[in-house]
Amino acid sequence: MNLIGIDVGGTKTSICLGTEKGELIGSERFPSAEATTQEEYFASLKTSVLNVLRNGGVAPEQVDGVGISAPGPLDVKRGVLIAPPNNPGWRDVPFVSIVKSWLSAPVWMNHDGKASVLAEWHFGRFRGTRNLIYLTFSTGMGAGIILNGQLVQGETDSAGEVGHHILDPQGPLCGCGMRGCWESYVGGRNVALRLQERIRNESIQTALTDLVGGAIDKISMVEFEKAARQGDTFALAEWERFTDRVAQGIGNLIMIFNPDAIVLGTIAIHGGDFVMDPIRQKIPRYTWDLPRQHCQVVPSILGRRIGDLGALAVAISGLAAR
Ligand SMILES: [Zn+2]
Repeated sequence: MNLIGIDVGGTKTSICLGTEKGELIGSERFPSAEATTQEEYFASLKTSVLNVLRNGGVAPEQVDGVGISAPGPLDVKRGVLIAPPNNPGWRDVPFVSIVKSWLSAPVWMNHDGKASVLAEWHFGRFRGTRNLIYLTFSTGMGAGIILNGQLVQGETDSAGEVGHHILDPQGPLCGCGMRGCWESYVGGRNVALRLQERIRNESIQTALTDLVGGAIDKISMVEFEKAARQGDTFALAEWERFTDRVAQGIGNLIMIFNPDAIVLGTIAIHGGDFVMDPIRQKIPRYTWDLPRQHCQVVPSILGRRIGDLGALAVAISGLAAR
């Protein structure tokens, strides 16, 4: 089967040609920032789709299905991006029908978290697992949830918005407008902003400042992990708080869903045991032993391919449901 996957990210959009087995034949990406208007964006996207097909020796009419993975909120049934977080001027973009107008193949779209759990389920180490959760664990925290072998979509496509379950109503203000959301504690962007704020306001001496040559607003998760690995006192104490909040949310998910496995994305993939060990150590504070002992909590082995594979998996699920 010839499948096209379109992974709409915050900074770039990736287009791939692949098969139902998860083989990637070719891919291409373009930075989202370059496209200022919707017209420019979709012109770039169309060019990339046609390039990928031409380079792969596949004619547009030979495409069997297209899967789109995109950040929410979106309306899956209508195929509409409601309000893409990184394109503030965009509202109700009919993404699916625009792509459909270029190809004769059916097109499906879903959230990046849901696409990722489908990728793990079709191509990852937990292939076919009955109860599986994927956590994006990147600039934000989203999830895809498979229960009893079925993707949980929710009545308004909001199932899996775990980043906005509240850990503490007195907590920090979240981008969504509520307080103390899980994402406000563990989303990479929020973690970095909070570190910057504390270092600035409390004049904290830390290796983090040196790692960015004094430009405090450049501190990101990368420097945070580096400074903690170096044993910097402030960074290590913050690392404890950070991993504890990650464990708290994961504990909640284990208690609610009793999954076989929870697979973690980006930050866990990059950080490996340095991220995972303290999280695993703290999870018992937040769950019963029985469901915890049954649940593996591990980084994804799909690495950077997860975006492309997730988009392909959206197409595969769409075709299977027809
Ligand atoms: Zn929130």
